[in-house]
Amino acid sequence: MKAMVLTAPDTPFQLLDYPDPVAGEGQAVAKVLACGAGLTIQHMRAGRMKVDYPRIIGHEITGEIVETGTDVSDLKVGDAVTAYYYLTCGDCTWCRADRETLCDNLAGNVGRDVDGGYAEYIKLPANSFIKLPESLEYRKYPAEIGVVTDAIATPVKLVRKARISERDTVAVIGAGGGLGIQMISVAAWAGARVIAADILSEKFEACRDAGAGTTIDVSSVGLAEALLDATGGMGADVIIDFVANDETLEEAAKALGKGGRLAILGGGGQSNVFPVSGNWIKSGEREILGSRYATRSEVREALEIVARGELWPTVTETCPLEDAEKLHQRVENGLVTGRAAVLMNA
Ligand SMILES: [Zn+2]
Repeated sequence: MKAMVLTAPDTPFQLLDYPDPVAGEGQAVAKVLACGAGLTIQHMRAGRMKVDYPRIIGHEITGEIVETGTDVSDLKVGDAVTAYYYLTCGDCTWCRADRETLCDNLAGNVGRDVDGGYAEYIKLPANSFIKLPESLEYRKYPAEIGVVTDAIATPVKLVRKARISERDTVAVIGAGGGLGIQMISVAAWAGARVIAADILSEKFEACRDAGAGTTIDVSSVGLAEALLDATGGMGADVIIDFVANDETLEEAAKALGKGGRLAILGGGGQSNVFPVSGNWIKSGEREILGSRYATRSEVREALEIVARGELWPTVTETCPLEDAEKLHQRVENGLVTGRAAVLMNA
C-alpha cells in the first residue's frame, strides 16, 4: 500500500510502499477514505510531539472494514467506521464506567503509538473502530465525517460536562484555532450566547460565521475587562480556555461569573498556575473543569448529531495523500480556517 511516513523529527513526509496490513487476533483492517490533518498530528509532523520512527500518523479517519481477524465479533467486512484516538484497555474501572479518557492502562494513541490513517489501509484493535450511523453519507463527505471523531466529539463532550444551555453566556479563549471554531458552533448549537476571544483578529469572521455574537481582540484589550464589559459586569457563565497559560487562566478566573464553570482544554502539558481562593469558588458556587478528548459514547453521540444534520464540521481544505506535506505546511502556519484533511485515491 501507499503510505505517507514520518521517518525522523521535523522532516518532510515520505511516500513509501508498505506491505498491506493483515489483521491478527482481535484486530481489523480498514480501507482509508480520508484522514483529518489537524493540529495534533501537525505537532507530530513538526517533532513537538514524540513518536517512534518510522510512523504513519493520522487518526481522524473515515474508512471501510476490509478484513477482520479471529475473535472479532462486532465488526464485519463492509462496515463504515471511524477511529477512536486513545488506545484504552476496555477493562479498568474508568473504561467500565464509560470514562475511558481516564483509562489506567492507556497505551497511547492511534497514529502515534501504532500506525494511523495516512495510508491506504489501517490496522487497529477492533475496539478502536467506531461504526458510523447508517444515514451518514460518508462516501460523499469522507473528510467531514472523518474529523467528527475529534472536532465535534470534543466540543460535544464539553457542552455536556459544563452543562451549557440557552441560559449561558460562553466565552471561548483561543477561539480562532481549529478546535475553538468548532467549539463556538457546538456551544451555539446548545443555545448559548458565544463570545470569541483570540489574538488573531483575522479569524473573527470565521468565529462569527460559526456563531459567535461578540469577538474580543485580546492583542489590544485586557481579556477579563473585555469579558466583564461584554456581560454587563456579571462575568461569563462558562469560559473554555484552549490556550490555558498562566495569563489566560488568571484573566478567565477574574471574569467568571457566579455559578460559572471554567473549563481547561489547552495548555500543551505546561504546569500552569493561577490564583483562585477557596472562598471565591464556594461563595460563587464556581467550578473548574478539566476535559480531554471524548469517550466512545460521546464520539457516537457526535456522529448521530451530524447524521441528524444538526451540526456539520467545517473542512475547508483537502488534498490527495501525496500532497500531505504541502497541506501540513499550511496547518503549521495557521493558514487553514476550520479543518483540513487528506483524501485517499483522490
Ligand atoms: Zn482502561
